[in-house]
Amino acid sequence: MNIEANPKLAENVAKAERHLARFRGQVLPHFIAGKHHAGLSGKTFDNLTPADNSLLCTVAAGGAAEIDLAAKAARAAFPAWRALSGDDRRELLHAFADRIVARAEEIALVESVDTGQAIRFMTKAAERGAENFRFFADRAPGARDGLSLPADDHLNFTVRAPIGPVGVITPWNTPFMLSTWKIAPALAAGCTVVHKPAEWSPLTALLLAEIGKEAGLPDGVLNTVHGLGEEAGKALTEHPDIKAIGFVGESATGSRIMAQGAATLKRVHFELGGKNPVIVFDDADLARALDAVVFMIYSLNGERCTSSSRLLVQAGIYDGFVAKVAERVRRLKVGHPLDPATEVGPLIHPKHYEKVMGYMGVAERDGAAILAGGGPAPGAERGNFVAPTLFGGARNAMRIAQEEIFGPCLTAIPFADEAEALAIANDIRYGLAGYVWTRDVGRAHRLALGLDAGMIWVNSENVRHLPTPFGGMKSSGIGRDGGDYSFDFYMETKNVCVALDRHRIPVLGGAKG
Ligand code: NAD
Repeated sequence: MNIEANPKLAENVAKAERHLARFRGQVLPHFIAGKHHAGLSGKTFDNLTPADNSLLCTVAAGGAAEIDLAAKAARAAFPAWRALSGDDRRELLHAFADRIVARAEEIALVESVDTGQAIRFMTKAAERGAENFRFFADRAPGARDGLSLPADDHLNFTVRAPIGPVGVITPWNTPFMLSTWKIAPALAAGCTVVHKPAEWSPLTALLLAEIGKEAGLPDGVLNTVHGLGEEAGKALTEHPDIKAIGFVGESATGSRIMAQGAATLKRVHFELGGKNPVIVFDDADLARALDAVVFMIYSLNGERCTSSSRLLVQAGIYDGFVAKVAERVRRLKVGHPLDPATEVGPLIHPKHYEKVMGYMGVAERDGAAILAGGGPAPGAERGNFVAPTLFGGARNAMRIAQEEIFGPCLTAIPFADEAEALAIANDIRYGLAGYVWTRDVGRAHRLALGLDAGMIWVNSENVRHLPTPFGGMKSSGIGRDGGDYSFDFYMETKNVCVALDRHRIPVLGGAKG
C-alpha cells in the first residue's frame, strides 16, 4: 500500500502516529485506582495493527491478581460514588463527554489503526461515545426514582439503588463506542466499574480511563484491566466483589460467563451474536432498500452485531435486486483504514481473517454462488483485507445463512411470500435485529410482531434512539440496554411498604389461660 501516493491518507497516518508514539515500544498498562499499573505478573501479549499486522505495542496481560486489585479499588470507591448526588454525577459525566469531544480526533485515529475500521466511521463512533455519556449524565439525577403503588391500607413505593461494583467486558468491534454504551449508564447509576476490554483492540480503553481521570472521576470509580478472556475476563466474572457483569461478545462466551458467574450469583446482561435478516418485498422503495442493505452489512467491515447479513428478497424482484447489490459490492472501496475514501478496511486479526475466508470455501461446497468478491483483497499479503462478498442462490439451511460470519459477507435468499419470508427469517438460533422493507403498512406491522428479534426496523437501517431498548432474543442475548432499561440492570429495586395504621394485624399468642 503506497501511503505517500495518497496525500489524505499520508496526512492521517502522520497524525495517528503522533498519538500512537506513546504506545510504541511500550507495554500498555492497566488503569487501577486512578493510576497506570504495569501489572503484577510481567506477562504481556502482542497488539497488532490490522492494516499490515505489524506490532503496535505489547499489552500487560492481567489475571486474577490484577482483577482483584481493580475489584478492591472499585469496592473502596463505591460508597462515596454512590453517595454523590445525582446532580454532581451529572456534572462529572458531562465533563467526561466534553473531554471525549476534545480528544475525538485522537480516539478516532487510534481506534481506526487498532481495529482496522475505516476512519469515516470511527469519527462518528467517538462522537457517539460522548453522546452516550451526555444521555446518561442527564438521567443520573432521576436514576433512583421509582414507582408509587398505593394499596388499600398501605402505601408502597419503590426506590432504586446502585447494585455495587460491576464488571464490563467488551469485544473488539467499535470498542470505544461499545464501552461507553455500557460504562456511562453504570457510572450514572452510581456503580463503580472494572472494565476488561478485548485483547485485540485495547488502546482506546486506556484512553477512556485516562479521560475519566482528567474529567475528575474519583480514583477507583473506573478501572481497566487488560488480559485474555479466559484469564482476566474469567477472573472478573468470578470475583465476589463484582455484583454484575455487562457483557458484549459471542454467544458461546456468554454461556461460559453464565457458568463462571454461577457460584457468586452474578447478575448478567448479555449482548451477543446475530445473523439478522433484511426482508425486501416487491412493493418496497427499492432504491432506499438497496442503500440500506449495502450499508448494513459492508459498513464497519461487516464486524457488527446488528449487520443485516441475510438478505431475503421476494422472488419476482430477486434477480434484479441482487444484481444491483452485486454491482455496488464490486464498487466498494477497500483500503487502508486511515484513508478517508475507504469504505471497507482490514479485518481485526489474522485469526478472524482466516475464519471469514473459510466461509468462501463453505459457500462453494454447499452449492451457493459467489456473485461478488469471494477471496482476498489487495493488501492481503500483509494485512487482513477481504474482498466484500455476496453469496447468492443460498438456502437458509446452509452454514453461510445460519452462522455469524462477522465480516463483509452477505447471503442472499429468495422467498415467495410473506409467510415464507417470516419462516426463513425466524429459522435461526439468533434473534437480535430484523429489517423489513415494504410499503404495505399492515404487512410491516404483521412482520414486526412476528419476527423473533429484539429490534425491528421498518424501512430503515439501524438508526438508534438512545431511550429505546437495545438487545436480543434467543442466542442473541439476555436483557436490554438503553434509557431506563440500563438503570434496571445496574440498580437494585427496593420496595418500601408503609402502613396507614388501620389494618388488622393477625394476633398470635394472644389467648389468655
Ligand atoms: P468474544 O466473546 O470472543 O470476546 C468478547 C470479550 O469477552 C473479550 O473481551 C474477551 O476477552 C472476553 N472473554 C472471552 N472469553 C471469556 C471468558 N471465558 N470469561 C470472560 N470474558 C471472556 O467476542 P469478540 O470476538 O470479541 O466479539 C465479536 C462478537 O461480539 C460477535 O459475536 C458479535 O455479534 C458480538 N457483539 C454483539 C453486540 C450486541 O450488542 N449484541 C455488539 C457487538 C458485538
